[in-house]
Amino acid sequence: MALLELDDVHVTYRTGGQDVPAVRGVSLSLDAGQTLGIAGESGCGKSTLTSTVLRMQPKSAKVGGRVLLDGQDVMKLKWGKVRALRWGQASMVFQGAMHALNPVQRIGTQIAEPILLHDKKATEKSAAAKVGQLLEMVGLPARRADAYPHQLSGGQKQRVMIAMALACDPRLVIADEPTTALDVMVQAQVLDLMSSLVRELGVGLVLISHDLSVLSSTCDRIAVMYAGRIVEEGPAAQVFDSPEHPYSAALAGAFPRIGDERFRYAPSGLPGDPPFPGEVPDGCSFHPRCPKAFDRCSTDEPALLDVGGRSAACWLAGGAS
Ligand code: SF4
Repeated sequence: MALLELDDVHVTYRTGGQDVPAVRGVSLSLDAGQTLGIAGESGCGKSTLTSTVLRMQPKSAKVGGRVLLDGQDVMKLKWGKVRALRWGQASMVFQGAMHALNPVQRIGTQIAEPILLHDKKATEKSAAAKVGQLLEMVGLPARRADAYPHQLSGGQKQRVMIAMALACDPRLVIADEPTTALDVMVQAQVLDLMSSLVRELGVGLVLISHDLSVLSSTCDRIAVMYAGRIVEEGPAAQVFDSPEHPYSAALAGAFPRIGDERFRYAPSGLPGDPPFPGEVPDGCSFHPRCPKAFDRCSTDEPALLDVGGRSAACWLAGGAS
């Protein structure tokens, strides 16, 4: 049984008197001890999709489909069980984690808070001991528990956020753009840390990023989202090195790769913007920006189909013409 299974998930927001579909029928799965990357530009639905796992949508949002965590349907849980699920079974490292820490509390107090809230047997002393272990696990000395956030560097704060996400021994961690605000060296250290924690602790990790190169070096599988749908999903190396979907190819081509003949001159860009969620064009949602679009693309929407060990939603996938 998969640790996490998303089955035909839809999320529609009500805004300005109109229904705005942000996620349109996404199915994905993740095993324990594995990392799934979710890639795509801002507004493609990746954060909305993963927030369904923790039931974080506003009450006005309509959520459809099934979200199974360890076989349990998260969408059917009563509110008290949802509170237990958060931190206990699944936790999140939020986007902009650098600013997520309380500036007037010591970091040890902040990491201990979910432990004391969720573990009825925990005492101040046992929680403090666990905080020390967690800090050492993420490469910080236990004595840093006494520090305030302003006494830490950006990379150290991100490590604290990861320690906090692991505080209640969750089975699943969702990290939303965890390295965006970090310099390249610290980014590599944080990603290495997350990969090794997945291996050592056997948790499942969902890593959200717009940067396909980051995901390719960290993840087992990658799902590429565009306009609220998955357009390609498969083993990370395949999706990055030989993308089937033109949008995946554009994301991969947006980053320079030293020594790769195909990218020897300059990284390529992609003209235009993703559609507003309420104004997705007919046919293939990517067709106004696609360099390979042809007549059929503007009228018929391609389904996500298996193309030799991965799936892609493009009329040209798998060498079709
Ligand atoms: Fe491009 Fe057409 Fe494929 Fe869509 S279906 S990605 S528009 S070639």
